[in-house]
Order: sequence, then structure tokens, then C-alpha cells
Amino acid sequence: MFIVHINPNSEKENIMADHQKGIHHITILSGDAQVNYDFYVKKLGLRMVLKSVNQDDPGTYHLFYANGAGKPGSSITFFPWPMAHQGVPGTGEAVAVSFAVPSTSGGYWKKRLADEGIEFDGPEKRFGLDVIRFRDPDNMMLELVFDPAADAVDAWKDATVPAEHGIRGFWGTTMRIVETDETTALLEEVFGFKKTDAEKNLTLLKSGSEIGHSVILEKAEKAGYGKNGRGIIHHVAFRAKDEEEELEMRRKVIDHGLQPTTVIDRHVFKSVYFRSPGGVLFEIATDGPGYRSVADRDEDMGKELFLPEWLEPRRQDIESGLPEIRL
Ligand code: ZN
Repeated sequence: MFIVHINPNSEKENIMADHQKGIHHITILSGDAQVNYDFYVKKLGLRMVLKSVNQDDPGTYHLFYANGAGKPGSSITFFPWPMAHQGVPGTGEAVAVSFAVPSTSGGYWKKRLADEGIEFDGPEKRFGLDVIRFRDPDNMMLELVFDPAADAVDAWKDATVPAEHGIRGFWGTTMRIVETDETTALLEEVFGFKKTDAEKNLTLLKSGSEIGHSVILEKAEKAGYGKNGRGIIHHVAFRAKDEEEELEMRRKVIDHGLQPTTVIDRHVFKSVYFRSPGGVLFEIATDGPGYRSVADRDEDMGKELFLPEWLEPRRQDIESGLPEIRL
């Protein structure tokens, strides 16, 4: 836990600023929505905090799963597209999503995955922490990292996984890229990360937050093309505490010679997108207003289809065209 100090020049204040940095959400292309929901909610114990549509393709869902409170640093989001071909990851992409679980929950998760019929590898040590690897129904690489930093964060209390063992949020993500130096500079100079460790071809960058605090850059010797499709990570979003900070970060991105979009209102946060030097699609996303802001009550989160105002007139058509998701 970090302590707020009033003195702006103190070392603690710098750590505090860092505390609000890290991964905001990660968005992935998936296949069938029901299969996706069943895996992430029923098997892994995440909460669906928002059910919406892809604003660029409103005939398809955009599903958001997170810890109980829907905190920044915990939401994995999907564009389910039942007809999508299987993707194959290449370079210039994020290739794995890592969830943080309590440091003492190793035994629970090995049994849980086995009971659910999910094949896994590990635990293996990486950067001093135990990691278990497995794949989601669309063949995307997932990891559980047994991380003491996450112990204090609450999991969803009504999950199928007991709260003491539940997923706290992200530990981080792995990006497979050639341009590791340029991406390191961007993560350090704009997004509040610091290079803290390296092993083999992996560089670890960390922010000061409790969840979503780690990015691993996996150095690729040369570019290799993958195939877009289900199981491919579409983008990684990083936190800005408010719109003012987002605009400041956007200016810094331009100073790095990159080309960000203007601010786009996603209603639960405000977004700026750009292609990073390594080729990964990055987003800057504000912490607020958050998933809770579009639900009347906490227990309503993720239940009704959320549509931005400009799509409300088409609600009936949109709802009748979307496949039902059995909760
Ligand atoms: Zn996003």
C-alpha cells in the first residue's frame, strides 16, 4: 500500500503518482460469446461488468470482465465474432495476458484448472514469481501469476471461485516485439513504468500499482507475421487518471514521433489510440467514469445491454440481432 503525502517534492509523492499508472484494460478478438462468457465468468471467476456492442460494428458484442469492482487494471474485454478464423500471433503484438492471484493460492488453482478440464503448464518461476500457463477457448495464452502485490486487492465476492483465491486483476502482459528499446522508452517516459529486471530475451517493466503493473517485452530477432483472428490481442490500454492527464500523455506520444487519434468517448472511459514503435496497438484510457457509472445499482453491472446514446434509437434491432448470452 502507498501513503499519500502532501509535500509535492517528497519521494513518496512520486511513488503515489506511479501508483495510478499501469495497464487499464486489454482487448481481445474472440469466437463465440457464450463460450467466452462461460470460460471467463464460470471457470475463471471474473465478473461481467459491462455488456455492450463494438462501437465500430454495433451488430456484435463488446464484453468486459473484471474483478468485482471493475477497477482499472482488472478488465479483460472481448470482441466476440462467432465466424472468426483462428488467429496466430506474430511479432508486433501482445501475446499473453497474465492475471494476478494471491501468492498462497497455487494449490487451489492447480486443482481448479484440473477440475475444469483446463490443461496447464507449471508452475514455473519467472522474475521470482510462480507462473501457471494455459489457453482460453480461442487458444490465447493466459497466465496466473502468484503475486504478493495483489493479495490486498479484492476479488469478486460472488464468483464461482472463492474470493480468497480469486483473480485480483491483471499482473500484466507480454509483448513480442523487435523494437524493445523504443517501446521501453515509451513505457518509461509516457506511461509511468520503470525497467526493473531482465532474464533471457525478456525485459520486465513495472509501475507502482497493485494490479496491472507489469509489462514483459519479449525481444524478437526479426519481424514475423501472424494471422489476425480469434485469440489475438487487439490492443493494450494504459491508465490516465483523468482527461487532463490523458491529453498530456497524448502530447508526449506525439513527441515520440507517433500519431495518436483524438479523444474518443467510450462512455465508461475516454480513449486515445496509437500504434506503438513495436507495432502493438496502444490505448490511453481514463480511470473514470468507470463501469459502475452506467449501471443503476452495483448488482445491475453487466446485466442489461449498454448502448451509447447515439445507438439507443436502434436498440430493438441491435438486441434482436445479437445472440443471447445465458448467465
Ligand atoms: Zn480499449
